[in-house]
Amino acid sequence: MSSPFLPDYAEARARFLDRAQAANAAIASHQHPLRGPKGEKLFMDAAVIGPADARNALVLLSATHGVEGICGSGIQSQFLADRVALPPDTLLLLVHAVNPHGFAWSRRVTEDGVDLNRNFIDFTRPLPENPDYDRAVADALVPPDWFGEAKGQADTWLLNWAMERGGIQALATAVPRGQYVHPFAPFFGGHGAGWSNRTVRQVLKETLAGCSGLVAMIDYHTGLGENGTGQLIGAGRAGSSLAMLGRQAWGEAFVLPSDAGTVSYEMTGALLDAAADSLPAGARMIGGAHEFGTLSGPEVLEALRADHWLHTHGDFAADYAAGIKHQMRTAFFDDSAAWRDSILERARAIQAQAITALRNA
Ligand SMILES: [Zn+2]
Repeated sequence: MSSPFLPDYAEARARFLDRAQAANAAIASHQHPLRGPKGEKLFMDAAVIGPADARNALVLLSATHGVEGICGSGIQSQFLADRVALPPDTLLLLVHAVNPHGFAWSRRVTEDGVDLNRNFIDFTRPLPENPDYDRAVADALVPPDWFGEAKGQADTWLLNWAMERGGIQALATAVPRGQYVHPFAPFFGGHGAGWSNRTVRQVLKETLAGCSGLVAMIDYHTGLGENGTGQLIGAGRAGSSLAMLGRQAWGEAFVLPSDAGTVSYEMTGALLDAAADSLPAGARMIGGAHEFGTLSGPEVLEALRADHWLHTHGDFAADYAAGIKHQMRTAFFDDSAAWRDSILERARAIQAQAITALRNA
């Protein structure tokens, strides 16, 4: 069997649309205002199978973090190819490339440099603060020069910063938590709801308008955890009904960022936490971000720093640009057969548990 995972956005989209058409899905394509690096058009595609007035729904999302869509798109295409049977009265919604710009440009962020999973906050309220992630940290993460002396100085500075705070883990805690002040640096949450945020909310709201039962939602991510492993990072705070229903559906596979041993970190503005608000009154939701491990945390952060440097200070015509993009794809997707098989097996197991929950709902 050929690999369902295609690193190129346009090829991955074409494969997804082929499979969706073969499955007689209704497809709605929402065009992004910008283009990809080859001038290609960009879309968020919504494929729907099943009755619009179904009580329950299964929703699978890809590429919230752009480049991570290599994995998520492949899982969606494989789901269609598997012809998975859904219970009666259940609608299937596959949202392909929530952040198509990031997918096409091999970036984790959107066209605005925004980490979409920090962007689903209420911008009329005071922005979340992260005083540890100050301007000096941002400047050291994205130094003016990526290949010369400035890079070495920035690395030393970051190491010292972390050691003063108890070890390298201090960096891994402070930085991914997100920030709303430095648009050029990683994990920036934005200053408003961007195109992907507004469009996916609209897709969820319109497609799920008839649901009055259970909505199971899985958002596919990569870059966290041990290589080849998966963890379903549950939506909802500990003790909330969202979290309790998720635990019922997925058991031990469902973890919260506040649980011990989880690969995730506590942060604000995740898509899935906001998705619950897009559902009609009366509908209940279970959901999580299914994370698959690739490289180590420091390697992933290094790729992100390089990418932010390229888009802030770099030259896309230079030889290093292709190298940095390759580094990004490698940080968020492992093209070994063992990895791909492991990921598909884990994705299918979590999907099967969601389908069981929908059947019992
Ligand atoms: Zn992600």
